[in-house]
Amino acid sequence: MNFQRVVIKVGSALISPTTQGCSGKYLLAIARFITQCHNAGKEVILVSSGSVAAGRSLIQHGSPNPSIPTKQAMASVGQMKMMANWQRFFDEPCSQLLITHGDLKDRQRYINIKNTLRILLANKIIPIVNENDTVATDELKVGDNDNLAALVALVSEADCLLILSDIDGVFEQDPRVNPDAKMLKEIGKIDNSIYAMAGTTRNHVATGGMKTKIQAAEKATENGIETYIINGTRSDVFDRLLNGSNPGTHFVAQQNAIRAKKHWLKHTLKSCGQVKIDQGAVAALLQKGASLLPSGISRISGAFAAGELIEIVDSESDQIIAQGISQYSSQNLGQIIGFQSEAIDGILGYCPSKVIIHRDDMVLVNEGSK
Ligand code: GLU
Repeated sequence: MNFQRVVIKVGSALISPTTQGCSGKYLLAIARFITQCHNAGKEVILVSSGSVAAGRSLIQHGSPNPSIPTKQAMASVGQMKMMANWQRFFDEPCSQLLITHGDLKDRQRYINIKNTLRILLANKIIPIVNENDTVATDELKVGDNDNLAALVALVSEADCLLILSDIDGVFEQDPRVNPDAKMLKEIGKIDNSIYAMAGTTRNHVATGGMKTKIQAAEKATENGIETYIINGTRSDVFDRLLNGSNPGTHFVAQQNAIRAKKHWLKHTLKSCGQVKIDQGAVAALLQKGASLLPSGISRISGAFAAGELIEIVDSESDQIIAQGISQYSSQNLGQIIGFQSEAIDGILGYCPSKVIIHRDDMVLVNEGSK
């Protein structure tokens, strides 16, 4: 298995196998795998469930299915326990990101999450993401951490998603009903027949079950991210992963991730404005693969928010040469064009980014897919 940036989703069944509080039982092998990934120069983001399960015994409740506010209180106290449980397995610092679907849908917050993850990884910190259960109600929630992990893989531009659970992979039939059921080693395009194989979850601390894992795999593979469902209760799976073999079910990426991103930038998003740039900036973008800085911009047109797509125009030829996601709104950008990045803080009073469009968020008109 060949990956550079991996999102590892760890389900509640591994964090809290007895459903009462956090356990280290399965985390040691996972943490060892993460350390080995780091030693091999790979980047890892964890998406960890378990806050509700970890806080369950600390909040009075009289029902096997407590009310939403009760679960939110459990998540609030359990999140601390779950984070502390992870940290004890690592020498590197862990960081906490609590996010909701509402955050991922909001363009400004989306780029804030993206920028934060980029900096955490560059500083060799282990980001640990969970849903912000305390504030999220149904319409704000992703709802399950399988889909959350797929969204985190997208926002972080990971090339691999590992969904760790207590099941070996996807079976043609329910192996608890038919012990001879065959496991699928590799799945190409995900269609209804694959969903039909997904049974319902039997483990009452887990939110998702097989269906949400397949949904997550579909989201990820459509965007070029190789996805695996793996049994994290078996420590041998990690050695097999490191040796390049597949110990579970592999969902094959449906296209190259960079191409998927370029295609998304080029064809899915609608441009909300333009910036004109000088010849130095044109050369930097076209010949050096640089990001767009405020100093190279001479004019702005249109009204756009941070996180929206804008076109980059060569001021001499008046041709669009590239487009990409702006880190700044048109209003803020208007105040900083022509200045060096170092001046941004002094002018705006804050500096969320030294570049206006990061190279990773940019596509040249004559590059990428048609
Ligand atoms: N966010 C929930 C928790 O931490 C878990 C959701 C899930 O496992 O899908 O308890």
